[in-house]
Amino acid sequence: MNRNGKFTAVLLCSAILVACGQDADQELVAPGAGQETVVRAQVPGLSEDYAKLRKQQVASVDYRLSVTLDAERDHFSGQVIADTRLNGKPTQPLTVDFSGGSVDSVRVNDREVPFTYNDYFISIAPEYLRAGENAIAIRYQHPYSTDGSGLHRFRDPEDGNVYMYTDFEPYDANRLFPHFDQPNLKAHYTLDVTAPKDWTIITSVREEKVEEKGDKKLWQFPQSAKFSSYIFSLHAGPFRVWEDEADGIPLRLMARRTLAEYVKPEDWFKFTKQSFEFFQPYFDIDYPFVKYDQVIVPDFNAGAMENVAAVTFNEAYVSRGEKTEAQRMRLANVIAHEMAHMWFGDLVTMNWWDDLWLNESFATYMANLSLARNSEFKNAWENFYLGTKQWAYRADQLPTTHAIQLPVHNTDEAFANFDGITYGKGGSILKQLPYYLGEEKFRLGVSNYLKDLSYRNSTLDDFMGHLGKAADKDLQQWQQQWLYQPGLNTLSAQFQCDNGKVAGLTLTQTGPEEYPTLREQRTQLGFYNLEGGSMVLKEILPVMYSGASTDVAAAKGLDCPQILNPNEGDWAFVKVNLDSTSVDNMKRHINDIEKPFTRLMLWQNLYDSFYDGKLPLNQYLHFVLENAGTERDINVIRLVARHLGSTFRYLNQVDMNESRREELQLAIETFVWQQLQQSEAGSDAQKTWFGTFTDVAKSDGALANARDLLLGERKLDGLTLDPDRRWDLIYLQNAHLYSDYQQAIDRELARDNSDRAQLKAIASEAVRPLPEAKAKWLQNILEHREDFKLSQLRYAADNLFPASQVTLYDDNAEQIISAIGAVNATASPEYIGTFTDLFPLNCSEAGVQQLTAILEGGEQLNPLMEKSLKNRRYDNQRCVDMGQLLAHASAD
Ligand SMILES: [Zn+2]
Repeated sequence: MNRNGKFTAVLLCSAILVACGQDADQELVAPGAGQETVVRAQVPGLSEDYAKLRKQQVASVDYRLSVTLDAERDHFSGQVIADTRLNGKPTQPLTVDFSGGSVDSVRVNDREVPFTYNDYFISIAPEYLRAGENAIAIRYQHPYSTDGSGLHRFRDPEDGNVYMYTDFEPYDANRLFPHFDQPNLKAHYTLDVTAPKDWTIITSVREEKVEEKGDKKLWQFPQSAKFSSYIFSLHAGPFRVWEDEADGIPLRLMARRTLAEYVKPEDWFKFTKQSFEFFQPYFDIDYPFVKYDQVIVPDFNAGAMENVAAVTFNEAYVSRGEKTEAQRMRLANVIAHEMAHMWFGDLVTMNWWDDLWLNESFATYMANLSLARNSEFKNAWENFYLGTKQWAYRADQLPTTHAIQLPVHNTDEAFANFDGITYGKGGSILKQLPYYLGEEKFRLGVSNYLKDLSYRNSTLDDFMGHLGKAADKDLQQWQQQWLYQPGLNTLSAQFQCDNGKVAGLTLTQTGPEEYPTLREQRTQLGFYNLEGGSMVLKEILPVMYSGASTDVAAAKGLDCPQILNPNEGDWAFVKVNLDSTSVDNMKRHINDIEKPFTRLMLWQNLYDSFYDGKLPLNQYLHFVLENAGTERDINVIRLVARHLGSTFRYLNQVDMNESRREELQLAIETFVWQQLQQSEAGSDAQKTWFGTFTDVAKSDGALANARDLLLGERKLDGLTLDPDRRWDLIYLQNAHLYSDYQQAIDRELARDNSDRAQLKAIASEAVRPLPEAKAKWLQNILEHREDFKLSQLRYAADNLFPASQVTLYDDNAEQIISAIGAVNATASPEYIGTFTDLFPLNCSEAGVQQLTAILEGGEQLNPLMEKSLKNRRYDNQRCVDMGQLLAHASAD
C-alpha cells in the first residue's frame, strides 16, 4: 500500500512532536494542568480513549464528498471536504481516519498544508487549524476492496458486469473516504459520483441531477440527514431495479442482472410494506428518511446491513429454487430487522460500540415482534426459540460468554462482539421486558426514547431511563442482573401431589459456578395431562420468580400434572431442568403432546441432555429414531433434522469401536433417507430431509442414490433439483470421492457458471479428502490470499477440514499454527474469521491441548481469533466427554 504524505519526513518530529522518543503504544499523555496532549498510537483501528478526546476537539462536522468510480482500474479516487468546527484553537494534532489508501494533498481553509500519513490516519498539525470553522479538503486514492468491507468491487463471471457496494460497520467507512470514523460524530453528507454510464448509484438520498460527462455520468445528491458514518453508503452498478411504494415512501429493490430471474420482488415488497405498517405506529414516528432502497449484493460478509435508506442484503437470501416457508420467514425477518434499525441505530445511535448490543438486540426483538403481529407467519416465536434463542443459550454457556453490556476498548473488540450474546441473548431479554413492564409501557418508553434523541447519540442509561419512566419502575436491579452479569440460570420445578391435586410447588433457580447471579423474571408454568390419548395443556400459570427458591402458592389444588413445563411459551431466558416424572412421561408420550411448541421445547431439552454429557449418544439417538418418524410439525422436523446432522458429525470422531460407529451412522442415514421418501411431495419436510440427507449420506448405497438423483436417473416426486441443490449433491460426491466426482464439477460449471456455482466448486474441491486438495487450498488461504476474494477463501476454509477428515488436518496442523503470528499481525478481522474456520472439531485430548498451547503461548491474539479458538477448544472437550459417557453406557 501506498504511503503518500509529501511532507512525512519533515513533519514526523514536529507535527506530532510528543510521539518522538516515546513508546508508540502509549496513547495518551496527560501533561498535568491544562488541555490533555493526545498522541494517537500508530496502529490500525480506533480506541475508545482516543475517540473520546477527538469528540472534545471536534464540535461538529459535515462532509462534501466526490468520488470517481471505474470498472477497470484497481483503485478509485476522491476528494472530501470536511467542514469541521473545532472547540477552541487546537494545541495538538487533529487526526483523520483513513485506512490503506494514499493521500495526494491536504488543504485547510484553502491553503495546502503539510501532513503525515501512516496508512491508518492522517495527522494535521495544530498550527494549520483555527478555532471554529475549518474546511479540511483531502484528495486521495484507495484500492477497491475484495474482502466485502469498505468499497467492495465484484465482477460477475457470467456477463462481466461490475458492481460495487460499501459495508462499514464498525470501522470501515474510512476505507471509502478520510473522515472521523466514530459513531458520535454524526454528520450531513453531500455526495457526487462520477461513474460509467449504465450504472445506478445508490446512497442515503435520491439523486437530484444526473449529467453526461463523456463516456461517464455525474450523479449529484442533495445533502443527507445527519447520521453516523458507519451507516453511510455508496453502492453502484448496472443493477436490475424494481420499484414500489409503502405509505408514500418510495421503495426500490436491486439485484445483479444475472441473479434477477431468481428474485421474487413480490415477497420482498410485501414483507417491506408489512414492516412499515407495523413500525411507524409502534414507534409513533414516521419513517425518518426520504426513500427506502434494498440492494442484494454478492460476497457479503454478514446477513444484511442497515445503511441509512440503502440497506444491503446477502445474496444467500435469494434462492435459485423454491423456498421453504422457513426460508421465506427468514427473509421477512431480516427485512424487518434492518428496517427496525432505521429508527433504532440510524435515527438514534449509540455513543460508542459498548452499546452495540442495544442496537442489535433491539432490532432482533423488534423484527420478531413485527412478524408475530403483522405477517402471514403464524409461528414467529417458535422460530425465534428455534434459532435466536438456541444461539443465545449456547453462547451464554461458552467460556467466552460475557456480560451483555461490557467495555469495548477499541474497534477490534467491537468486531468480536457481533455474537450470540449481543444479538441472541440481548434480543431474548428484551423480549421478556414487556412481560415484566407491561407491553404498552414498554412501547411508550421506546417511543419516547426515540423521539427525545432523534438524530443524536445515546447511552444505555438513556434507554433504561425512558423505559423506567414510562413504566414507573426502577430498573436498576434488572439492569444489574441481566446486563452486567453473564451466565445462564437453570430452572426446575418440584411438586407434590395429594389425591390427584397439587399439594405444593416450588421453583428452584441455580447458576453456574463462575456466574452465580440469580435473576428475577416472569415465566409460565404449563400443566399437562393425558386426555383421550392426547397430552393436553390443562392449565397455564404465569409466575414471577426470583432467588434460589420460589413457592408457587397458586398451583395448589390444580390437577397433578403428568408433564410440568416450567417455561411454557418460552417467556423466560433460562435453561429448564425437567423433573423426572415429566421426563418419563415426555419420553413415553412425546408424539401425543398436543402443542407443537411444547414438543419443540422437549425435543430441544432432550438434545441438551445429550450435548451436556448427561445422556449417552446412543440412547439419545435411539430415542430419536424411534419417535421422530411420526412427527408432522415442520418446526419440530427442522429441529430434529438439525440435531441428527450434529449427532452424525460428532459420531465421526467420538472415541468408539469402528463397527459400532458405522452402525450408528448408517442408522441415521437410513432414517433420513426414509423420511425423505415418505415426506409429502413438494412439502417443506421433503426439502428439509433432502438437506439433511446431503449431510449424512456416507454408504455406497446412499452415494449411489445421490448420484442417480443428480443425473436424473432417479426422481423424488415433488422435489425440484434446482442449481443450489445440485451443488449439494456434487459436494457430497466430492467429499467421498465417489464415482466421477471431478467430472461432476466440470459438467456443472459448464451449465452453471454463476458466481455462486464458482464458490460451490471451490467448496467441493476443498472438501476432497486428498492431501493435494488440502495443500492447494491451504496455500491459497495462507500465502496467496491477495489473489483471491475473501468469499472464495471463506468457501475453501469452511470446507477444508470437516469433522470426518481430522487426520488430514493433523498433517497440516503445524503449517496452520505457525501462520497464526503473521495473520494476527497483518490481517483484517474479516480474514481472521475465515482463518479460524480452518480449525476443525478435534475430538481428542490432543485436540484440546493443541489449542491450549496456542491460547496460553503468551502471544497477544486478536480478540476474534482468541474467542474462536477458545470456543473450538470447548467444543473439542465436550466431544471428548461425550465419548467417555458413551464408552460407559450400555451398548444397545
Ligand atoms: Zn442488526
